[in-house]
Amino acid sequence: MVNCEYAVEESRVAPVTYIPAHIVHCKGIGYPQVLADHMLRKADLHVHTRYSGLTRVSFLTFPDSISHPSDLVRTAEKKQLAVLCITDHNSIRGAVEAKKLATSVEIVTGSEILTLDGDLLGLFLTDDIPKGRTAEETIDAIHAQGGLAIAPHPFSSHCDSLGLKITELKLDGVELFNAAHRDGYTNEAAQKMSSNLDLAFVGGSDAHSPAMVGNAYTLFEGESAEDLRRAILARKTSYAGEPTPLKDIVWMTVNVTAELWRILGLSLVRRPVNDGTECALVVSRMRTISKVVALMGATAFLVPPAPALVGVLGDHIHRSRSRTHFAKVTNGPRTTQ
Ligand SMILES: [Zn+2]
Repeated sequence: MVNCEYAVEESRVAPVTYIPAHIVHCKGIGYPQVLADHMLRKADLHVHTRYSGLTRVSFLTFPDSISHPSDLVRTAEKKQLAVLCITDHNSIRGAVEAKKLATSVEIVTGSEILTLDGDLLGLFLTDDIPKGRTAEETIDAIHAQGGLAIAPHPFSSHCDSLGLKITELKLDGVELFNAAHRDGYTNEAAQKMSSNLDLAFVGGSDAHSPAMVGNAYTLFEGESAEDLRRAILARKTSYAGEPTPLKDIVWMTVNVTAELWRILGLSLVRRPVNDGTECALVVSRMRTISKVVALMGATAFLVPPAPALVGVLGDHIHRSRSRTHFAKVTNGPRTTQ
């Protein structure tokens, strides 16, 4: 860890044409000043809202996120992010909504698109990009809109990921720090396998709740979304942040399950929720018996200490799978802790 005073000294003798690694890892009292001296701002490149579709865990289907775009915008502004990229699964709806609400933070319209080869982030989009095509076709579609293509969590063991295919694609950037991947192995694999690639190195929170926004971010020179775009194209970005605390992930799963419980319950008493989310739509089409079974499952999950136990167990399983995956991908053990 380099101390911040050293970083400030360094900035006086050398104008920033790149972002030195010691700045990225310089945290503490002097950190905001260091960023200011280098004219660096923060952008979170990977965030989800309630329009992010559904996620399946065992026999239960949950909303991927229940965050209102307004709550994400408020948190991003409180955390003084310059740019927030909203990247719902296969939809730009959350970003379009957030854009109308933002004041001090600039919103970039994005989406996390499921391709046949793994997830891809499209930023600076103007329209939805359909899922289910090859990564090459999806990148072409992103570029045709004037957008940028980023590989999120490329070596994740539990999310759809591009893996070594990142070396063959016409990407603009690669996510080397994803705060929602708490295991250590996934981010280190990405950093190790991407160091020689001519791509922008970026970070994103992959936030599924407002509390997670800004836990990881991309550093860039300038102020605006257009400055961010230029920095990505010039490969002059870096990343920083901390893994999301387990308690925030547990709390997010409690809130998501409680929302599923509410939608199921209201539907069973013939007061269906119609809020435009995929979860409400799917529940409205379920048979009564399926709703009852799902409601019982959600209830069992919400009884303490079930959420905490499931959270700790899930964290352990992810870490262990990621360790195995890391060894397979990199042919070796971790070099940092
Ligand atoms: Zn994501």
